[in-house]
Amino acid sequence: MRGSLVDPEEKALRPHTLSEFIGERPFLDNLRIFLQAARERGEPLDHTLFYGPPGLGKTTLAHIIAHEMGTRLHATSGPALQRPADLAGLLTQLEAGDVLFIDEIHRLHPSIEEYLYSAMEDYRLDIVIDSGPHARTLQLRLKPFTLVGATTRLGLLTAPLVARFGITIHVEYYSQSELAQIVLRSAKLLGLSIEAGAAWAIARRSRGTPRTANRLLRRVRDFAQVQGEPCITAAFAEKALSALQIDPAGLEELDKKLLLTLIERFGGGPTGLQTLAVAIGEEAETLEEVYEPYLIMEGFLERTPRGRRALPRAYEHFQRPVPMRGPSLFG
Ligand code: ADP
Repeated sequence: MRGSLVDPEEKALRPHTLSEFIGERPFLDNLRIFLQAARERGEPLDHTLFYGPPGLGKTTLAHIIAHEMGTRLHATSGPALQRPADLAGLLTQLEAGDVLFIDEIHRLHPSIEEYLYSAMEDYRLDIVIDSGPHARTLQLRLKPFTLVGATTRLGLLTAPLVARFGITIHVEYYSQSELAQIVLRSAKLLGLSIEAGAAWAIARRSRGTPRTANRLLRRVRDFAQVQGEPCITAAFAEKALSALQIDPAGLEELDKKLLLTLIERFGGGPTGLQTLAVAIGEEAETLEEVYEPYLIMEGFLERTPRGRRALPRAYEHFQRPVPMRGPSLFG
């Protein structure tokens, strides 16, 4: 789900300030300094690029930047900008210091991307009017602004675009304890009574992703409401989550397909990324940037020079016998 399409309840759970943003990340301290420095100089924050898998807080951080700078955020997305005029319309509306947030910036059309270069560098937009011998360039001056870009696919961004961001931040998966804190915070905002054990039960199945944690919390809440449960206990949450058939490790359909294809069709690997991608019917880069990092972090998969290999945890998860390949293979 795209950040710009979130439902109102998810929006209500969004932290508004850096101090509400949960998670111990070195980038948060840096961002705090960059924001303070920009505020003290009376300048907009440098253009900032967030990259990482979906649901980890990139859109939230863009809103936080605008909030912390005391400015407004104007949101759009790469695919929504069809013509240079769409971009010009947005850029000319910006007041000094405003944030222009472009989600899925890797899907920006190349012709529009080129207009962005001068806008980012010199706060100037050169619009070409007419074509052929009548072509003229109209130069529009823009107010100083901050472009915040978000992408799940850093590899698809062109080098000139990446180079124009002064700040580049990798947003990574959350630990279970961070997710449990997020669940407790969201429960409070939703006016729910919940035990810490229940927050952990949800966190374990959230695939390192706050958006998933919030979604699961809301589904568990539905069960509690209908069954008249005043407090969500750990046992109640476990029961609701199994009724919802949530994978115990939070794996999604594509995670399962990837691991099972590797185990069942390729004897556990090593299998080249391209081969695996074709077998699953997904783009290699999407597997590499969006799905694999979590599976690697959680010890389901490893990348080797000869390809991808399923690790014992993957076999155990799907209750398949771990092949006897000698101890050295699995390290
Ligand atoms: P992305 O733009 O990376 O897809 P979002 O910013 O839309 O992700 O985040 C999804 C939801 O997760 C948000 O609505 C917010 O409620 C929650 N969220 C994300 N990161 C955090 C965090 N660090 N602390 C608390 N809630 C968070």
